[in-house]
Amino acid sequence: MASDRIQRTLAMVKPDAIERSPEIEKIIQEEGFTVVDRRRVRLTRAEAEEFYSEHRTKPFYPSLVDYMTSGEVLALILAGEDAISHWRRVLGPTQVSRARQEAPESLRARFGDPTNDSRNAAHGSDSQTSAHREVKFFFPDLTLEPVLTGEGAKEYLSNAVSPTLVRALTELCKVRPEDPIVWLADWLLVNNPNKPPVDK
Ligand code: GDP
Repeated sequence: MASDRIQRTLAMVKPDAIERSPEIEKIIQEEGFTVVDRRRVRLTRAEAEEFYSEHRTKPFYPSLVDYMTSGEVLALILAGEDAISHWRRVLGPTQVSRARQEAPESLRARFGDPTNDSRNAAHGSDSQTSAHREVKFFFPDLTLEPVLTGEGAKEYLSNAVSPTLVRALTELCKVRPEDPIVWLADWLLVNNPNKPPVDK
């Protein structure tokens, strides 16, 4: 059944796990998320302070900021059904030692450092409000339209996608290429009605 709970969330691979980001991105893929955009960046002190400003008064804030600026992070916009809670579930509890006990398969249990409560491998927005703020924080220039669902999605697909796709698939059946996916991708590049034609 189509869901009206398609959400976007901000995922971040933190400095301690950046070397293992290919493994983490594989998990993201296996969990069925769509990666809308990604960006690898080294946060400045001011940026890390702003990102974690809600923890400004906590004793661990200075060391958290030190840690978050100690190396590059990978920020990803993930989309999917209930993406915010789904990604938080994949992450597991904030504390790695707790994650290892309560959710040993979770990402923080597998990739985090149980001896340091800041070094828990990855981040995920905890609400729609923070997802909105955090996506904007890392991708300020990105314009994201509201996610279409239900009738709106059907109408968009039948107006904007189906006419071209039907032509493409009809042609594909005639040609029967050896690698239909690559052929289809090439055909769509050449015949995209929204772009000037490209040379093959
Ligand atoms: P999250 O939403 O699960 O990331 O948890 P919080 O918003 O409570 O904390 C933000 C981040 O601060 C965590 O992911 C940890 O990296 C770090 N952190 C939280 N609690 C502690 C703590 O008690 N000590 C230290 N050193 N770091 C912490």
